[in-house]
Amino acid sequence: MEKTLNEAITLDEQDPLKGYRDRFHLPKQANGKPYIYFCGNSLGLQPKSVEKYIKQELEDWRNLGVKGHTEAKNPWMPYHEFLVGKMANIVGAKPIEVGVMNSLTTNLHLLMASFYRPTADRYKILIESDAFPSDKYAVESQLKFHGFENGLLELTPRAGETLIRHEDIEATIGREGEQIALILLGCPNYYTGQVFDMKHIAALGHEQGCVVGFDVAHGAGNLLLDLHETAIDFAVWCTYKYLNGGPGSVAGCFVHEKHAYQFDLPRLTGWWGHNKATRFGMRNDFDPLPGAEGWQLSNPPILSLAAILASLDIFEEVGMESLSEKSVKLTGYLEHLMNQIHDDRIRIITPANPVERGCQLSIQVATEGRSLFEGISRDGVIADWREPDVIRVAPVPLYNSFEDVFDFVSILKNRLK
Ligand SMILES: *Cc1c(COP(=O)(O)O)cnc(C)c1O
Repeated sequence: MEKTLNEAITLDEQDPLKGYRDRFHLPKQANGKPYIYFCGNSLGLQPKSVEKYIKQELEDWRNLGVKGHTEAKNPWMPYHEFLVGKMANIVGAKPIEVGVMNSLTTNLHLLMASFYRPTADRYKILIESDAFPSDKYAVESQLKFHGFENGLLELTPRAGETLIRHEDIEATIGREGEQIALILLGCPNYYTGQVFDMKHIAALGHEQGCVVGFDVAHGAGNLLLDLHETAIDFAVWCTYKYLNGGPGSVAGCFVHEKHAYQFDLPRLTGWWGHNKATRFGMRNDFDPLPGAEGWQLSNPPILSLAAILASLDIFEEVGMESLSEKSVKLTGYLEHLMNQIHDDRIRIITPANPVERGCQLSIQVATEGRSLFEGISRDGVIADWREPDVIRVAPVPLYNSFEDVFDFVSILKNRLK
C-alpha cells in the first residue's frame, strides 16, 4: 500500500503541471483537509485569480458608471472579444466561428432556429437515447414547435450494452439519413463519458444532406477538440464545467466558417448581433455580424465574462495539448488502480480506449450504488451520482493530482469491504 502511495507521490513530482493545483481554491472538509474534488465535469473550481478580474470590473463600474462601456480598463462594449480568441484555441476553431454568449440551452435553441429547418420529407432529429435532459427537452420542443412531434430518432445501446456502437450510428444514418434534418449528439456523452467521432459522423451526415451539430459541454476544456477541422455545422457548450467559469456562467457556441457569411439563414436576432459600426444608430434594418457573433442577442453580463476570462488566461498559459497529455495519464492511472479492485459490484462503463473518452470515468454500481456513493462522500470525495446506477468521477488535469486518484481508490476499496 505504502509503495503505491509513494508511486502516486512520485507521479505528482514528475508532473509538469503540478503547480496549477495551487492556482485554484479547493473546497475543504471540516477537518481542514481538501476534499477529493472529482466534480469538475459538473462545476469547475474557482481560479484564485477570479477575484482580481471581477474586482477590476466592480471598480470600473463604481468609478465610471456608464462610461465603463468605453472607458473601463477592459471596455465592456467589446468585452466578449477579449475571450473569443482564447476560447477558439480551446475548442480548435477560428475566432470568427466562436461566440461567448447566453447560456448553453439558449444557444442550442438559437442555433436550432437557424439549423433545424424541417420539411415534410426531412424533419427528424437524431440524438442519443441518454442525452442530457436539457438537450432532449430542447430538441423535443423544437420538433413540437415545427409540428413534427414524432420526429425524435434515438440512438440506443444494444440490449445488455451501455455504449452506442459506431456501426449502429453509421447504420442509422445510412437507413434514415434522407429523413434526418439534424444530427445532434453530446461529445462526450455526459453519462457514459463516450466520445464520438465527430468528423466521421459529420461526413456521414453531410453525405445524406443532414445538418450536424454537437453539444460539447463535456468536451470543452476536457478533450483536445478541433471543431473547425471536423466540419460540423455548429456546436454549443457551457463554461462552468471544465472551463471553470463559475456557476451559471455565460456559454459558448461554434458556427462553422462555411456559414459565417450566410446572411440569409433564418435566425432569432438581437442588437448585439448587429453590425458594430451602426449598432447605436438604432436603425430599423438588422445587419448581422459575420460568424458566430451574428447570433448574439444582448449585451453580456460582464461580471460573468470577467470570471471566464480569468480561467481562459490559465488555459492559454497551460495549453490544451499539455492538459490532454496529463489527462490521459491521470485517468489511465485511475483506471489502472480501479481494475485492481476486482469486485463484481462495480464496473467502468466509459470506453477503455483513451481516444474515446476524456477525463471522466463512469462507474456503474450493481447493488446499493446510492449507499456506496453516500459512503465515499462521507469519506471526503466529491463526485456525482446519476440515476439509475452511475457514479461519475472526473480527475481534472488542471487541479487534480495522482495522489487524489490514489486516495479516491483507497476510499472506494474500503467502502466495498
Ligand atoms: C451541463 C449540460 C447542460 C446544461 O445546460 P444549461 O443550459 O447550461 O443549464 C446541457 N446539456 C449538456 C450536454 C450538458 O452537459
